[in-house]
Amino acid sequence: MRIARFTTGEDPAYGLVDGAGEKVAEITGDPLYQRIELTGAVHQVDDVRLLAPVIPRSKVIGIGRNYVDHAQEMGGEPPAEPMMFLVPNTAVVGPGDPVVMPPQTSEVSYEGELAVVIGRVCKDVDVHDAPGVVFGYTCANDVTARDLQRTDGQWARAKGFDTFCPLGPWIETDLDPGAQRITTRLDGTVVQDGRTAQMVHGVAALVSHASRAFTLLPGDVILTGTPAGVGPVRPGQRVEVEVDGIGALSNPFVRH
Ligand code: MG
Repeated sequence: MRIARFTTGEDPAYGLVDGAGEKVAEITGDPLYQRIELTGAVHQVDDVRLLAPVIPRSKVIGIGRNYVDHAQEMGGEPPAEPMMFLVPNTAVVGPGDPVVMPPQTSEVSYEGELAVVIGRVCKDVDVHDAPGVVFGYTCANDVTARDLQRTDGQWARAKGFDTFCPLGPWIETDLDPGAQRITTRLDGTVVQDGRTAQMVHGVAALVSHASRAFTLLPGDVILTGTPAGVGPVRPGQRVEVEVDGIGALSNPFVRH
């Protein structure tokens, strides 16, 4: 099932997107908390504005250096345990929304990633039980002010600016998270081309690890790390993150 959040100009609503990504059938309420019931209204996807498919109520958990080739391009090896950081939910934007590059940074990078959306309250989840607490998956761009990441020591600002966490285009609930191709395009040119099978720590291990530190709540998001090929974005460029089996998330970058 593909679940989108969208607006037709009124209050945001949720809907089920068809396999072709052309139509969205509106549902009542929030599918994270309520049984899915169709309202009967059906829209063309092109006629609505897609929004971030989830606004995390408590947290976005990022995972750093979870692909060997990316860790090496950053000048190191992957950490033995998943390295976590937190991104405020105010950084989340949706498909097509501009990523606003603030004046404090002169080096903004894309990081295409698979994002995990948590479906229930959980704590100390065993790896084997982790798939049962996952609601679904979406695409993410873990936008990073690389210069501030180096100078701040903490990553809170470098990854937490408003608009620095695009999510979308929708949540896919049926996906093998360990067997997908992940591709990032910069103005149409492929700059990252990885496989989720290359993750050092797979999705189940990441969910379990995160849950041993934090109680996970419905709508929490885990960013699972980026493959090699990160690089700078200039104002006016567009970045598209595509995960096979989900779809593509595209955002323009603008200068504040
Ligand atoms: Mg990242």
